[in-house]
Amino acid sequence: MAGDTLPEPGPEPGPEPGQDFLREIIREDLASGRTATVVTRFPPEPNGYLHIGHAKAICLNFGAAQEFGGRCHLRFDDTNPTREEQEFIDAIKADVRWLGFDWGDNLYHASDYFEQLYAWAVHLIRTGHAYVDDLPPDEMRTMRGTLTEPGRDSPFRTRPIAENLDLFTRMRAGEFPNGARVLRARIDMAAGNINLRDPVLYRILHAEHPRTGKSWCIYPTYDFAHGQSDAIEGITHSLCTLEFEDHRPLYDWFLDQLPVPSRPRQYEFARLNIGYTVLSKRVLTRLVSDGHVNGWDDPRMPTLAGMRRRGIPPEAIREFVRRVGVARAYSVVDLAMFEHAIREQLNRTALRRMAVLRPLKLVIENYPEGQTETLEAINHPDDPDAGKRPITFGRELYVERDDFMEDPPKKFFRLSPGREVRLRYGYFVTCREVVKNEAGEVIELRCTYDPATKGGNAPDGRKVQATLHWVAAADAVPAEIRLYNNLFSRSDPGADGDVMADINPDSLEILTGCLVEPALAAGNAGDAVQFERQGYFAPDPDRPAGRVVFNRTVGLRDTWAKVQAGDRGTKQNG
Ligand code: ATP
Ligand code: MG
Repeated sequence: MAGDTLPEPGPEPGPEPGQDFLREIIREDLASGRTATVVTRFPPEPNGYLHIGHAKAICLNFGAAQEFGGRCHLRFDDTNPTREEQEFIDAIKADVRWLGFDWGDNLYHASDYFEQLYAWAVHLIRTGHAYVDDLPPDEMRTMRGTLTEPGRDSPFRTRPIAENLDLFTRMRAGEFPNGARVLRARIDMAAGNINLRDPVLYRILHAEHPRTGKSWCIYPTYDFAHGQSDAIEGITHSLCTLEFEDHRPLYDWFLDQLPVPSRPRQYEFARLNIGYTVLSKRVLTRLVSDGHVNGWDDPRMPTLAGMRRRGIPPEAIREFVRRVGVARAYSVVDLAMFEHAIREQLNRTALRRMAVLRPLKLVIENYPEGQTETLEAINHPDDPDAGKRPITFGRELYVERDDFMEDPPKKFFRLSPGREVRLRYGYFVTCREVVKNEAGEVIELRCTYDPATKGGNAPDGRKVQATLHWVAAADAVPAEIRLYNNLFSRSDPGADGDVMADINPDSLEILTGCLVEPALAAGNAGDAVQFERQGYFAPDPDRPAGRVVFNRTVGLRDTWAKVQAGDRGTKQNG
C-alpha cells in the first residue's frame, strides 16, 4: 500500500519574507522598479533524487517567489542524456510537491530550448565568437593551462567562419563519432578565470534523450544552457550555490553576445552541509548502485524520499531550512539541529502509543487468570482534541527488557526484584520473582499489582520512581521495528580520503519480535507516532501486506536542546 501513491502536498509555508541578503536584494529591486515581478527557478539535473541540500534551494527559490508575489519555475536541466532518467524526473516532481511547493504551469526543461540554443551557437559562430575544435580531449585539457599558467590557443581557433558553420552543421547531422569534435566559445585563452578559456559549448553524444529521443546527437553543455534558459524564461533572480560564482563572468559573456529576450542576474549562496551527512549526488549514487543502502528512498539516505519514508514531516524540513538561513559563508550545520526541528514538529503532531521493542514477559500473580479489563490512554498530552483510546490490561503483559535489572546499580529506578513501579495508565506492580531459562537468562518476571492504584496513583500517597510502557499479551501485535543510526560514522565523512570507508556498519538495526498495541496495526504510512519513552516512528510504506513494520524517525533524546541550554547557561565541554 501507500508506496505507489503520490504524497499529498503540504500546507502553504508562511508568507512572511525572510531577512537574508538575497531577499534584501529582491526587496530593493522591487522597490526601485528594477524588477516588476520576481521570477526564480529551481533547476535540478534529473540524474538522482533530491536531497536536503536541494530542499534549501527549493525553499529559497519557491519561498522567495511566494513571499514577494512572484513565481518560481521548476526546470529540469536535462542537457546530459547519458546520466538522466525519467524515474528521477518523476521523483523530483513528487518530492517538490511533498515539500509543499507548487510550480503551477511553470514546468520547463532545458531540452525545450535545444533548437534555440543551437541557433544561438550558430550566431556565435557567425559573429566570430565560436569555433569547432578537433583537438583530442586530453590535449585540449593540457592546453587549457592551470590556475597559475595561461592556456594556449588551439590550432583550430582561427578556422574560417564558413568552415566552422559547415562542421557544426555536420556535427548535428551525425557525421562524426562521439568526442571527435566540439564547439568552443572564442573568448580568451589567457584569462585568469579558467571558465573563460574558450569553454566547450557543444559536444557530440550519440545518445537517446528521455525527451527529445533521437533528434539530437550533439548536446549543449550545462554552462551554455543554463544562463540562456534563464533568459528565455524571464528569470529575474537566478539563485545558485557558490561553486558557480566563477562561472558568472561566462554566463554574462553569453548574455552580452546573444540576442536574448531578458537579462537574468545571478546571485550565489552557500550550500547546505550537515554533519555526518553526505550531500554529493555522485556519492549518493554510489551508495545506491553499490548496495550500501536499499535504494534512493532508504530511510538512512539524506534524500527527501528517504526522509519521507523515515517519517520526517515536510514541515520540519522547511522549518530547519528557515533556521539555517541563507548566507555566503561556508558552514556545516550540526545534525542535532535538524533532529531538534523534527522532534519539535512531531512532538506537536504525533499521537502517543505504546510499543515494546525487546519484550520481557511480566505475569501478575494476583490478577485473575483469564480476565482482562479496558483502560483509557490519552492520545496526546497537549491536545485534548486528539482524544483517548481503549487499551487492554491483563494478567500477562510485556515490558521492555531494558526496564529490568536483576542487580541494579544505584541510579537505576526501574524494575528489579522487590521494586515497585507504575505501568503507564495502569497500576503499580512489584517484582516478586525472576524466572530464568537454562542459560541463566531472565525470561519472565513474576509480579503482584495493587488494585487500588488503578489509573496510576496510590490512595495512600506512596510514590514510585518509574513509569514503564507495556503491552498486553492478550492483544499485542507482533511488529518489526527498524532502528536507523547515522549512515556515516564521522561528522566529516570522506575527510581522510575514501568516503565509503566512513560508512557506519551499524547504521541499521532490525528488531523482529517486537510487540505493539493494536492501535498501531492500523496506522497509515506517513502517520508518525511517538512510542512512549522511545522516540518517533512511522509505518514503513513498503511493508508487506498484513505485516506491521515501523521505521524509527528519531529518538527522544535531544542533544541539540542541551547544546542550546549549554550556550545560554553554564558552558559545556565538547
Ligand atoms: P550535480 O550538479 O553534481 O549533479 P547538484 O547537487 O548541484 O549536483 P543539481 O541537480 O544541479 O545537483 O542541483 C539543483 C539545484 O540545487 C542547484 O541550483 C544547486 O545549486 C542546488 N543545490 C544542490 N545541492 C545543494 C546544497 N547542498 N545546498 C544548497 N543548494 C544545493
Ligand atoms: Mg549542479
